[in-house]
Amino acid sequence: MTKRSVEMVASPREPHYVGDGFRVHNFIPSGFRLDMERMDPIIMMDYNSKFYFSPSEKPRGVGVHPHRGFETVTIAYKGKVEHHDSSGGGGVISEGDVQWMTAASGVLHKEFHEKEWSKKGGDFQMVQLWVNLPAKDKMSTPKYQAIKNDTIPRYHVENNGGEIEIIAGEYKGIKGAATTFTPMNMLNLKLKSNAEASFSFPSNFNTAMLVIEGSIQVNDKDVAPTDHFILMSNDGEDFTVKATDDAIVLLLSAAPIGEPIAAHGPFVMNTRQELMEAFNDFNTGKFGYLED
Ligand code: MN
Repeated sequence: MTKRSVEMVASPREPHYVGDGFRVHNFIPSGFRLDMERMDPIIMMDYNSKFYFSPSEKPRGVGVHPHRGFETVTIAYKGKVEHHDSSGGGGVISEGDVQWMTAASGVLHKEFHEKEWSKKGGDFQMVQLWVNLPAKDKMSTPKYQAIKNDTIPRYHVENNGGEIEIIAGEYKGIKGAATTFTPMNMLNLKLKSNAEASFSFPSNFNTAMLVIEGSIQVNDKDVAPTDHFILMSNDGEDFTVKATDDAIVLLLSAAPIGEPIAAHGPFVMNTRQELMEAFNDFNTGKFGYLED
């Protein structure tokens, strides 16, 4: 087993708004070192760092829009989001919950701050990932995994060092809550100050971390503060994470799909032809209907 080193620690870029409810720092894709291929199959990462939204009678969010060819994964750290889609599905994602939506052949949906939460306002902090699907699954039937926090399996770190939530994949023999199309590990590290955890993933697995709270030190060397993104090299398997303060870290490690990516707006396919079909299907109402 060889050590996996840190390739880059990236600070958050200037935030922008998605609709009026998501104030996000975009980490993927963001330039040549973090293009859509680098973290394959994680092709997009938007991070709403902790931000206070004032009370609003009219919930903020993003209106009806389509997706095809991939999955959206929403991880709520603070605040509440309500979503509805064209197949009649919907639900509320609360603090600690994860929503794994397989858009696949296509859905229309809308995402807003939950009504009652919106009236009170408060701190809001979330991550949205786009997880690409292999060509053979891109046109499969859409589905949801609404993963409540109390159903996420946990590993308890030695000496009361905190816990590791296994959203997907596996850690120390404990299997995660979500079903995935391709092999991937998605973990929430909730480490007490000075606690340390070790990880080992195949070297070809694209691996990164996002510091949600506190600060960490990787391999007793590279330091990353809150809201920073750590891209790991593909030069080995093993690395350690030490909390230098009480820390929450989203850790992603996934097997690359290695297929061509043709992306435009809310559609991610393999070829230009398939993108044109997606736009055509959307424009001719084949994604169904959803009221604004
Ligand atoms: Mn969406």
